[in-house]
Amino acid sequence: MGAPPQLSAEQRSAALAKAKESRQIRSAAKTKIKSGDLSLSDVFTLAEKDSFIAKMRVFELLASLNGVGKIRATAIMERLNISPTRRIQGLGKHQISALRSEFSPAQSRGKLIVLSGPGGVGKSTIAAYIREHGTFWVSVSSTTRQPRVNEKNGVEYYFLTEEEFDQEITKNHFLEWAHFAGARYGTPREPVEHELSAGKNVLLEIDIEGAKQVKVHAPEAILVFLEPPSWEELVSRLERRATDSPQRRAERLQLAQEELAAASFFDHRLINDQVENVVQKLLSLASAH
Ligand code: 5GP
Repeated sequence: MGAPPQLSAEQRSAALAKAKESRQIRSAAKTKIKSGDLSLSDVFTLAEKDSFIAKMRVFELLASLNGVGKIRATAIMERLNISPTRRIQGLGKHQISALRSEFSPAQSRGKLIVLSGPGGVGKSTIAAYIREHGTFWVSVSSTTRQPRVNEKNGVEYYFLTEEEFDQEITKNHFLEWAHFAGARYGTPREPVEHELSAGKNVLLEIDIEGAKQVKVHAPEAILVFLEPPSWEELVSRLERRATDSPQRRAERLQLAQEELAAASFFDHRLINDQVENVVQKLLSLASAH
């Protein structure tokens, strides 16, 4: 370590005066933050021009916000990977936008609703209705299965080759993915995240394995298990599905049986009696959470 800089008496007193001014400005800002006169977003904007504010510690800023306090400030900083001594000027772009969306009421996150249940129970009909009526934003999955007649790339699914799907996995582009009846299905992460941060409620219509993965990565997700009005009804529906080969139908039936047993893992169970009923209940669940 080198020797401390030798300052003249004049320089020393100028430095002291500057430090005092800086403390006063930050303390005045903290008072305004506490009273709600300055929002977190205002402080970030001020910090772009004012070097005293830019040097404020992020911890002091968060802990001063109404209703936050030291414990929650520490937890938020840990979650966003912000070091405890970080100053506003040292925050990365992503950290600033994560903090802004955390505290801006206009941008409060939307709800993530996961609709799952045995294959053939009618999830895709519900999802199609919701997409058509704009009730929630409905995620478009990627899959390696072949398109059925009338299915269009980018509408029902993004149809990918095995290699393309592998690449998406490697790049960590899926929020979740799973094998289902000989094919792979995955939820593209980025669009879901984008809609949620814009405050939109998002619906994923996915299989049970996928739903379990979502719960691990996003514990706030609302997991809904759609049940057939009766097991016999489900069997006959699967048997009538002419678009599948007999082997495919048998596989789907076997899986549906196992899936029915998984209902207990879910936050809510809904019986698929009528599309409008189910949609109405999903809406109530989203606003109740
Ligand atoms: P289908 O081939 O009949 O369109 O869908 C087969 C199954 O895959 C359904 O149970 C459907 O919910 C599920 N599925 C659709 N998209 C996804 C997804 O992105 N992830 C997972 N895990 N399952 C999906």
